[in-house]
Amino acid sequence: MGSPSTPGRLTVISGPSGVGKGTLVDALLQRHPSLWLSVSATTRTPRPGEIDGVTYRFLDRERFETQVQAGGFLEWAKFAGNLYGTPRGPVEEHLAQGHPVLLEIELEGARQVRRSFPAGFQVFIKPPSFEELERRIRGRGTELEEAIQRRLARAHQELEAETEFDAVLVNGDLEQAISSLEALLNLG
Ligand code: ADP
Ligand code: 5GP
Repeated sequence: MGSPSTPGRLTVISGPSGVGKGTLVDALLQRHPSLWLSVSATTRTPRPGEIDGVTYRFLDRERFETQVQAGGFLEWAKFAGNLYGTPRGPVEEHLAQGHPVLLEIELEGARQVRRSFPAGFQVFIKPPSFEELERRIRGRGTELEEAIQRRLARAHQELEAETEFDAVLVNGDLEQAISSLEALLNLG
């Protein structure tokens, strides 16, 4: 992990929507305050309780596209009808200062980051079964049926890409998955 030109470590957490990426990352951040999670920009509508600048930077499409043109994103992708991107500046600053950086992003973004940061470490989170994934997306209760269907369709494609990743982790039992992720990222 890391390289001479990259003093910090860049870790990508990816996997289908509803698999539990956010839950796992929140647990890691609580237990390891030295980790820094990039706040993504998105054109998606905020869910209840999501705070602009904390959960995401919520941008309209025009502002998002202006940022794209300006080269302001390390990576960006379209997912289930919305645009998502990682603001470049803060990530590069944290890495330059030697701080470990986490990105929680979907497959296309992970592929872009793999090209620009080949020394980064990429973890794919997968569900114990597709049925359980569907139960979790529905159980979260944050999307309408159409958005759920889009996410499930995309999940089939994402699950086929697990072999591209440095490590694959099944999020079955949550505590076990947190411990396995800590071990993978060498967090004591
Ligand atoms: P993602 O960020 O990958 O879209 P979330 O972290 O929002 O997924 O999790 C989706 C739903 O699944 C949430 O309701 C969350 O509480 C639940 N969940 C996450 N991990 C587990 C687990 N190991 N076992 C059961 N439910 C889980
Ligand atoms: P959600 O709408 O559920 O918050 O996120 C949908 C998907 O977009 C998730 O798989 C999430 O990991 C991904 N995502 C969040 N931020 C980014 C980002 O900055 N870039 C990319 N490529 N994907 C992101």
